Amino acid sequence: PSQRFAGKRVFVSGGSQGIGEAISLAFAREGARVAINGRKKEKLDALLPRLAKVAAGPHIACAGDVSDETAVTEAIDKAFQDLGGLDILVCNAGIQIKSPSEAISLADFEKVLSVNVTGVMLCVREVLKHWVRNGTKGNIVVDSSVHQIIPKPAFLGYSASKGAIGNMVRTWALEYASRGIRVNAVAPGAIVTPINDSWIHDPEKYKAVSEHIPMRRPGQPDEIAEPTLFLASDQASYITGQTLFIDGGMTLYADFEKNWA
Ligand code: NAD
Repeated sequence: PSQRFAGKRVFVSGGSQGIGEAISLAFAREGARVAINGRKKEKLDALLPRLAKVAAGPHIACAGDVSDETAVTEAIDKAFQDLGGLDILVCNAGIQIKSPSEAISLADFEKVLSVNVTGVMLCVREVLKHWVRNGTKGNIVVDSSVHQIIPKPAFLGYSASKGAIGNMVRTWALEYASRGIRVNAVAPGAIVTPINDSWIHDPEKYKAVSEHIPMRRPGQPDEIAEPTLFLASDQASYITGQTLFIDGGMTLYADFEKNWA
């Protein structure tokens, strides 16, 4: 693999499994030192040897719930201290809770927003504080979703949160462009990760999901990791404020494939 990120330091929230894990491993492969975040320290500690096997690092664990302000401040400060700074932030942590909208509890709605919106805001704010102070031309990639634009019935908080991320990314991009800080999002379609345990282990449901994707298959975590690295790399040096949809064609109004006219 190329060493595009040699000498770079990357913080990945929710980095212990799924897309975040693939992103962490991909950055390590290309020479970066990685600070992985997640709620459970044991899970992060288990991933560290795998990261070290890919590339020496040293890589570090920065445990903390992204929806907890103090925990985020401590996790980001630890990364800056232990790695001597940060060059790239990947806000990947995200959750969803299913409920028909007429019955959604306030607690569930607020929980999704606290992780997917407030959690992203807190990580970005803490990193920006350092970058503005030090004049660092840093780089941020946020994990959005096709549900930034496709409605997701019975997942109201999730739809709201990913819609919000699109505009937060555009706002930060504009606010910090003159300082050389770029901010973009990736918006995955259906990807084979634990968040989709409800269908990935059930052959019938897997087939049903595959059939409504124009490319007829879900994506793999590495297919999100690679475009994430691209956006964070110098190859994307003039791209900011964008959301890159990575979805096998899901956002192409798939129904029109049948040529109704
Ligand atoms: P996942 O559930 O496998 O992983 C999510 C990660 O976030 C886990 O490591 C989890 O521990 C961490 N996390 C959750 N809450 C946290 C918190 N409060 N603080 C810190 N870490 C926390 O999911 P995934 O599929 O890898 O999803 C990653 C991101 O990609 C999410 O933002 C998700 O919305 C988005 N996404 C996923 C898909 C998909 O099909 N898998 C599609 C679109 C968008």
